[in-house]
Amino acid sequence: ELMQGPSGREEKIFVSVRLRPLNEKEIQRNDVSEWECINDNTIIYRNNLSVSERSMYPTAYTFDRVFRSDCSTRQVYEEGAKEVALVVVSGINASIFAYGQTSSGKTYTMSGITEYTVSDIYDYIEQHNERNFLLKFSAMEIYNESVRDLLSADNTPLRLLDDPERGTTVEKLTEETLRDWNHFKELLSVCEAQRQIGETFLNEASSRSHQILRLTIESSAREFLGNDKSSSLTATVNFVDLAGSERASQSLAAGARLKEGCHINRSLLTLGTVIRKLSKGRNGHVPFRDSKLTRILQSSLGGNAKTAIICTMSPARTHVEQSRNTLLFASCAK
Ligand code: ADP
Ligand code: MG
Repeated sequence: ELMQGPSGREEKIFVSVRLRPLNEKEIQRNDVSEWECINDNTIIYRNNLSVSERSMYPTAYTFDRVFRSDCSTRQVYEEGAKEVALVVVSGINASIFAYGQTSSGKTYTMSGITEYTVSDIYDYIEQHNERNFLLKFSAMEIYNESVRDLLSADNTPLRLLDDPERGTTVEKLTEETLRDWNHFKELLSVCEAQRQIGETFLNEASSRSHQILRLTIESSAREFLGNDKSSSLTATVNFVDLAGSERASQSLAAGARLKEGCHINRSLLTLGTVIRKLSKGRNGHVPFRDSKLTRILQSSLGGNAKTAIICTMSPARTHVEQSRNTLLFASCAK
């Protein structure tokens, strides 16, 4: 559903699905593509279902937008994220999520979207000389419910603090004031390096961890025009590259795994619950406080904040079960 909801009703989350092409590995094992985007909103399962399967699974799924496997990341940004991400220049918080199984294209999609957004924000700043802008950048990773600074070589887990005015903050998180585009690119390389250092210590870290890159924009009118509320604005946009969604379905599937001490991805499960509740409207308790991810993002989810979720999926027959789980998550979010 579109962001500008009618009659002031709670605004919906913009949900899109991006199908990627079959990759080298899938082609080599003669895997085939089972999914097709038949228009801008509908993705279908092409293979004939047996009668019993037909009663279990839908064959067509409809979203705010679906992107065929030949769509560029630029197009996914323009039509699936830009409108939500750029509300930050008007003082409104936003979050963009990539959700999907490991190797479905989350990082590929989210890194492009992050760069396009920051580039558009710089263009916006250039065209708005009447205001002064300050951009601040920070980056963190959540692994096993512990938060790490991706801009610092110090791997000590960071604590969350409850600030009565600002909500939940991450104690000692590095926040860099961006000098320019090149500085932003440098910081992205620092994050990437920090992430890789983490990976060598933690088995399969990238499929189990969530990465949050956040950009805070402060602006003020150059000339103070009386008692104008918009004379000073602050807002944050979060780019969230989630842990592989197979972690959520695995831990949901088998209680046995929990008893074995296998870690549930609490943040991913809680995010699912929070998003389902938010998409259903304003009633009832939303369990933001149940995980680190949702605590950190609380002020950028719900309320007047804008949210877009891009669900990435492999078209391959071998991944059909995970793809269905992804589409089910996407359906619950819209
Ligand atoms: P994830 O972050 O979900 O684990 P990645 O983004 O790392 O997945 O993608 C896995 C691989 O597939 C990468 O090599 C990436 O470059 C490639 N890939 C993902 N999506 C696309 C796409 N839409 N088009 C081309 N290559 C893609
Ligand atoms: Mg990734």
